[in-house]
Amino acid sequence: MSEPSAQPDAERTDLPHAERADLIVIGAGPGGLAAAARAAACGISVVLLDEHRLPGGQIFRRPLALPAPAVPDYARSIQALYRGDAVPDLSYRPDHTVWAISGDNVVYAAGPEGTRRLTAPHIVLATGAYEWPVPMPGWTLPGVMTAGGAQSLLKASGRVAGQRVLVAGAGPLILQAAAQLAEAGAQVVAVLDAAPAAEWWASAARILAHPSLAGEGLSLLARLRAKRVPVKRGWTVVQMLGTEAVAGALVAPVGADGRARRDVGEFIQVDAVCLGFGLIPSVELAALRGCALDFAPALGVWGVRRDPGMATSAAGVYAVGDGAAVHGARRAVIEGRIAGLAVAQSLGRTGGRDAAREMAALHKGLARLRPLDRYLASAFRPRTGLLDLAEDGVVVCRCEDVTARTVRNEIGNGARTLHEVKTSCRAGMGNCQGRNCMPTIARMLAAATGESPGTFGYPKPRPPVRPCGATGLSLAPASPSGNTR
Ligand SMILES: Cc1cc2nc3c(=O)[nH]c(=O)nc-3n(C[C@H](O)[C@H](O)[C@H](O)COP(=O)(O)OP(=O)(O)OC[C@H]3O[C@@H](n4cnc5c(N)ncnc54)[C@H](O)[C@@H]3O)c2cc1C
Repeated sequence: MSEPSAQPDAERTDLPHAERADLIVIGAGPGGLAAAARAAACGISVVLLDEHRLPGGQIFRRPLALPAPAVPDYARSIQALYRGDAVPDLSYRPDHTVWAISGDNVVYAAGPEGTRRLTAPHIVLATGAYEWPVPMPGWTLPGVMTAGGAQSLLKASGRVAGQRVLVAGAGPLILQAAAQLAEAGAQVVAVLDAAPAAEWWASAARILAHPSLAGEGLSLLARLRAKRVPVKRGWTVVQMLGTEAVAGALVAPVGADGRARRDVGEFIQVDAVCLGFGLIPSVELAALRGCALDFAPALGVWGVRRDPGMATSAAGVYAVGDGAAVHGARRAVIEGRIAGLAVAQSLGRTGGRDAAREMAALHKGLARLRPLDRYLASAFRPRTGLLDLAEDGVVVCRCEDVTARTVRNEIGNGARTLHEVKTSCRAGMGNCQGRNCMPTIARMLAAATGESPGTFGYPKPRPPVRPCGATGLSLAPASPSGNTR
């Protein structure tokens, strides 16, 4: 970004002209696609930006070479965009990483030709979530990855993470990842779910109230059974072993608080370990734009504060899907449609349809998903005992190579905020800007002080919020809008 200026970004004449639209949607997962499709259907000019080559987000990622498969029924409204059909009034820009938004809604997106400036009175943030990487001995070895990383590798390039794979973590995504890996030819030696059996059944029972979700859950378990994948509940991985790459893992039973009983651990020989201990909403752009955030104690993560129309506290800015609060793809689609419709309503362009009735129906759809919300809240709840796995020599901040010992020393020396830890030992100052390590450090501070991790605030983001390289940051002249497909 160029030097700070007192002038609003949209009016600056020292920068290339900012391309204008009625609405900019950031993120082409289920939430962003639904928002873009709904708004464009009302004749609103929409620019849809996403860092990936193809639309679909985490759940509908697919290889470039393959045509888009049919999406499930709940996502029918996004099928055309997902398939790549040209949609009137909608300009889809893949390969565009948004690295900043100014206070007057100028969006900076790094694409193949450098950074473009775009502006709109309305912005929908649909940036999705990422996995909490739990630091433990051996977690930085090649062959150890997040369960979502293994899924992305498989979906985008058809490669399986390894031949003998251990999947460990908590919640439904590890089961999904294990089933996909096993069906793609990997030998999944075990799935370890940190939730003890009684807790797992109690939380799974919550979705029995929703027949299609219950059906999905049962079919997932059947797929795992068909591939003879053992699922051990109340167990976790405590250490990965290997020199050049992971060659084995120590696993152990774990209590409800996530504390592992290493004295009764077992060794498993593997060449890949996939970890998934819960999701964290990607709220960096919302925070940079000045949207109010709320800490969700049940999940131990920050989310974006919204009204029922998905509007945030920042004028003209909406937030939908897992990037606002982790509730899954079904909810992301409905929230996206609500936001698209809300933008149309605020522009007086609902195309003569009964927007109020449609909005009421969408809210009823959200209410029907409450059992899923409750299930996810219990499945992804923070297990503080997992922090014990970050022994002193374990690296917590991978970008700056800062160990748990250093972080604990800083806390012992009186650091009481994330900022104090960051400035005293550089944790969180690297390329990812603390996206990965700060949730762990907040939990370490909480464990040391007895406070909630929310007490320590959300770390102040600064542009670029995503790494995009020097070329990506150079400013490109604006091009006329148009569908790039
Ligand atoms: C790692 C992972 C694996 C998952 N696996 C499954 C699964 O197997 N089954 C299942 O049912 N659910 C799965 N989920 C959950 C499901 O994918 C989500 O609930 C759903 O995709 C949420 O949709 P969304 O539109 O909110 O976000 P997403 O689908 O995550 O889409 C967000 C999009 O925004 C893009 N983006 C983010 N920031 C920027 C930026 N600054 N600039 C440009 N683009 C940006 C992202 O690259 C992404 O394409 C998974 C989630 C994650 C995080």
